[in-house]
Amino acid sequence: MARYIFVTGGVVSSLGKGLSSASLAYLLKSQGYRVRLRKMDPYLNVDPGTMSPFQHGEVFVTDDGAETDLDLGHYERFSNISAKKTDNITTGKIYSDIIKKERTGKYLGKTVQVIPHVTDRIKEFIKGDITNEDFVICEIGGTVGDIESLPFVEAIRQFANDVGKKRSLFIHLTLVPFLKSSDEIKTKPTQHSVKELRSLGIQPDIVICRSQKSIPIDQRKKISLFCNVPIDNVIETVDVRTIYEAPISFHKEKLNRQVLKYFNIRPKKNANLTPWKKITDTVLNSKKQVNIAIIGKYVNLKDAYKSLDEALIHGGIFNKVKVNLLRIESDNLKKQDVKKLLKNVSGILIPGGFGKRGTEGKIAAINFARRNKIPFFGICFGMQMAVIEFARNKLNIKHAGSSELDKKCFPVIGLMNEWDKDGKIIKGTNKELGGTMRLGLYEAKLRHNSLVKKIYNSTNIKERHRHRYEVNKHLQSKFETNGMIFSGMSPNNNLPEIIELKNHPWFIGVQFHPEFKSRPLNPHPLFSSFIKAAKSK
Ligand code: GLN
Repeated sequence: MARYIFVTGGVVSSLGKGLSSASLAYLLKSQGYRVRLRKMDPYLNVDPGTMSPFQHGEVFVTDDGAETDLDLGHYERFSNISAKKTDNITTGKIYSDIIKKERTGKYLGKTVQVIPHVTDRIKEFIKGDITNEDFVICEIGGTVGDIESLPFVEAIRQFANDVGKKRSLFIHLTLVPFLKSSDEIKTKPTQHSVKELRSLGIQPDIVICRSQKSIPIDQRKKISLFCNVPIDNVIETVDVRTIYEAPISFHKEKLNRQVLKYFNIRPKKNANLTPWKKITDTVLNSKKQVNIAIIGKYVNLKDAYKSLDEALIHGGIFNKVKVNLLRIESDNLKKQDVKKLLKNVSGILIPGGFGKRGTEGKIAAINFARRNKIPFFGICFGMQMAVIEFARNKLNIKHAGSSELDKKCFPVIGLMNEWDKDGKIIKGTNKELGGTMRLGLYEAKLRHNSLVKKIYNSTNIKERHRHRYEVNKHLQSKFETNGMIFSGMSPNNNLPEIIELKNHPWFIGVQFHPEFKSRPLNPHPLFSSFIKAAKSK
């Protein structure tokens, strides 16, 4: 029967609850247990799909097509357990479900209230879609004491009461600041945060203390005493040099041991830390470096391209090189500056995106990469821009564009079925078809003798999508006779999934997001190959 581990945070946000949960999941899994990771987000959006990356960082997409919180990306990368739709919920989703139910009379005339209706719905989420997992780790977004997270805290309190202490464990992650002026480690914020949690009816079983410096025994004793937690369950987490060190660090601090001890079970085998040690060493000690330019709209925001940044680093790990990311804001990229800005980079990547702003800068950069034979990787929107660049400058279709950006263009990129058989737009269909996104895993078949087939070493692949617009397949032969090959197609041949250039060392565009499937311990082949090409440039 599943045991439930709830992870809350206190004092400040961004302490690394996601990374702590993900590291714990890796350790438990590596000791022979089946683990599931879940996230509850207290905001009112139904899912993060409509949120700007400026607000909430990247939207992470699962195999089954859910648009979720970026913490699920951490979970997948560290635990290698694929997340599902049923692993992320928001207050908005809970309320929209409840209101739908209320409108159809399913509450049989009762007054609908936070307790029990909202809390019941949260509990339903926690225990839903569980099969044979040994542990379900549930992270609660935000910080204890926030108005928004109250129903979640109440629900996990009730949940633990329902299933009993033997099957539930509370972990609270807090900040233990170091005051430079007095050269002291301060435990008071932790004491207050735990006091707040206890006032909501939850006594943490383990307190993880995030700190800049190792916490001396006296301060640990103090935390243990004031927070009512056994001293061995006061776990410190000192800032690591790279995130890949986190599982090693938590193992050293015996987090997994204390969790198993709490549940009174033994590890089935020793945790395997060798791969993390290896990649930590590679990340910290690689001498050779490659400079990769990422040209996008949200480059100035730390988490907007989280999975992508990670996947590039994974590619570096595979090739034993340090990847320096040169982030270029596409809005400010003028045609005349492209050469100056990009002449020293070994690879150019254009990530996914939406909307017109910054597109001309991206197209100019792609033109530079194509003509100067610089390794180029276009992802989703980046692939679409590469197709537009090629159509305009090589096929001489001067008005080539995407109907997402310009309704009057010649749509080399458009909505499915928006074209007639000559590739021209069918007037008036736009409105009706302006529909849903292609989300989640889709299959593609790869062309023999193509670069991508060689990279994947397979003719069939499955990758995660998140887009609405497609490459106009009616133009395939025109593109191909001029050197741009549609090397990956949907199984029914209707949708171009990958393009590549014949006379170029490495120029690939993909309609999907391979970055979502890259793992530090198992880098995605496209990123490994891209970095390899950049390294040998
Ligand atoms: N805006 C483009 C589309 O909807 C690309 C989306 C993306 O890059 N994820 O097709």
